[in-house]
Amino acid sequence: MSFKEEIVKVLNNAGDKEIIVVCDFDGTITTADSDVTMNGMAKFFGYESDFAKDRTALYEEYGKYLTEGDDMTRYKMQNKWWSAQMELFKKHNVAPDSYTNAGGKLNFMLRKDACDMLAFCDKNDIPVFIVSSGLGNMIIPLLAFSGNLSGNMRVIANFVRYDEDKPVSYTPVVTPMNKSAHLALELEPFENYHAVVFGNEQSDLGIIPADLCTTVLIEN
Ligand SMILES: [Mg+2]
Repeated sequence: MSFKEEIVKVLNNAGDKEIIVVCDFDGTITTADSDVTMNGMAKFFGYESDFAKDRTALYEEYGKYLTEGDDMTRYKMQNKWWSAQMELFKKHNVAPDSYTNAGGKLNFMLRKDACDMLAFCDKNDIPVFIVSSGLGNMIIPLLAFSGNLSGNMRVIANFVRYDEDKPVSYTPVVTPMNKSAHLALELEPFENYHAVVFGNEQSDLGIIPADLCTTVLIEN
C-alpha cells in the first residue's frame, strides 16, 4: 500500500476521531540510499574540514555509549552527543545559506509516495508532524524546494538559531530517545485523535502509545 492508501484506510475507520500524521524524515520521506541530514554538513564541508574532524573526534568520545548500557545512560549520552554536534555550528560559524547549498549538492531523493501523501494531507487539512532527530535547517529547504512544505505541517527537529547571519544557539535537542517527549508537547491541544505513524526504523514507531496510533514501517 502507498503512504496515502494507509491514511485513507485509517480515515475510513476513524469515527469521530481527528486523524493526524506523524512522520520521520531521514529514510522515510527521503529514500533509503539518500544522505542523512545530521551528517550532511560534515559531508558537504568535506571530511578533511575542521568541522568534520571535530565531529569525528566527538563521535569517538560519545559513539560507543549511544547504543550500549541501560536506557537512562543511553538517553543522557544521546543528549550529550546531539548537543555537542549542535555546538559545532556555532564554533565553526556555519553560514545560514550553507544548508540550502548542501541540500542541493548532496544526494537527497524524496520518495514520490511520501510526497503524494504530504500533498494529500495538505489538501485534506490533515495535520502533519515531521519528527526527526536530524537537522531541521536542512529539512526545511529540502521540503520547501520540492514543494512539500505546507501550512498544516510542523517540523520538530534540531535547528541552529541565527541572529542576523551568526549562529547563536539551537533549539532543545531532538534525539531518537526523546522524540516522543517533544511530540507529546505538540499534541497537547489535540483531544480525540488517532495518529498514522510512518518510520523506517522500529524505534520511530513507538513515538506514540500503541492504542493511539496505526504504525507503518517503511522498508527501503
Ligand atoms: Mg529515519
